[in-house]
Amino acid sequence: MLASGSKGNSTVVASSRTRILLDAGLSCRELMKRMAVAGEDPAQLDAILITHEHQDHVHGLGVLARRLRIPVFITEPTHRAWVRMLTPRTTITYTQWLEQRKVENDKATAGPSTTLGMTSEEADSSATALLRNDKVVAGNDKVVGDESPDLTEASLESVSAEAEDEDAPTEKAAKTPLTHLPAIEFFRAGSNFSIGDIAISSFTIPHDAADPCGFVFEAEGIRIGIATDLGYIPTNVKQALRRCDVMMLESNHDLEMLRDGPYPWAVKQRVMSRVGHLSNNAAANFLADEYDGGAAYVVLAHLSESNNLPALARVSAEQALAERMNLLGNQLRLAEQSVPLEAICL
Ligand SMILES: [Zn+2]
Ligand SMILES: [Zn+2]
Repeated sequence: MLASGSKGNSTVVASSRTRILLDAGLSCRELMKRMAVAGEDPAQLDAILITHEHQDHVHGLGVLARRLRIPVFITEPTHRAWVRMLTPRTTITYTQWLEQRKVENDKATAGPSTTLGMTSEEADSSATALLRNDKVVAGNDKVVGDESPDLTEASLESVSAEAEDEDAPTEKAAKTPLTHLPAIEFFRAGSNFSIGDIAISSFTIPHDAADPCGFVFEAEGIRIGIATDLGYIPTNVKQALRRCDVMMLESNHDLEMLRDGPYPWAVKQRVMSRVGHLSNNAAANFLADEYDGGAAYVVLAHLSESNNLPALARVSAEQALAERMNLLGNQLRLAEQSVPLEAICL
């Protein structure tokens, strides 16, 4: 787990022959850094797999995929939502348009440089939608990366957006669209497919994104289940998480901390909703009542920095697991936001 939490998520899942990056929720540069720290060679990655289009899962997607020239496995609705997020809707007055044209003409005669006027407004049906200000950048060949909004916690915990062009100066010169991917492999949520020798079962999760998915990865007799970003655990997810050797489960917030915390009420409601995030309690209830107790490692993930404490999540899960940890010594780990977790090797 290179990173986990509302400021960015990314995990490497690998067999001895295939390496998959699950989500790319940090900048390309930061992902490269984390991989170096974790002893992962980015050049060895075979593919990127995406759970859903929230910023904390796709922040570095485009740049990383282009840099590594590897395919992106994604559902079609998620891809469409991602493209829409990166495509600013431009609304300008005629006078502004004339002015813009004049600046462009001046630039064209002055030399090769780019001027970009971006006015993007993302309104959402939800009460938590964040209206963004215009971002207009001109001159000096410097285009500021447009931090796409979403309704995740990330948007409230102010993801530090690294401009895309910091990562790829050559792309800018070639005017590569932000949405360009070297190769796309669409899969249907709920379907099974494979990447290299890793068999993947996808399952839908209840979350306020276009087509969010969790996954079970299987290779060499090992089964890894990953479910984060879900408002509750429906039957299909419970079934998918059976017989896992490693189970990564969201333990997003402590209910009391969330209630008393800094988020606006509408956002608190959204996080607590059936399409929000899993609380420590909800995760613990699953671990106590439904979990089959078979995983060598249970990893708590996507902990909120504002509404949770690692100690609270840990105690809650430990109590729930108390009677279910088997004698072989199952281990409980907490994925972290700021540093990669030590690799789990089975
Ligand atoms: Zn999300
Ligand atoms: Zn998330």
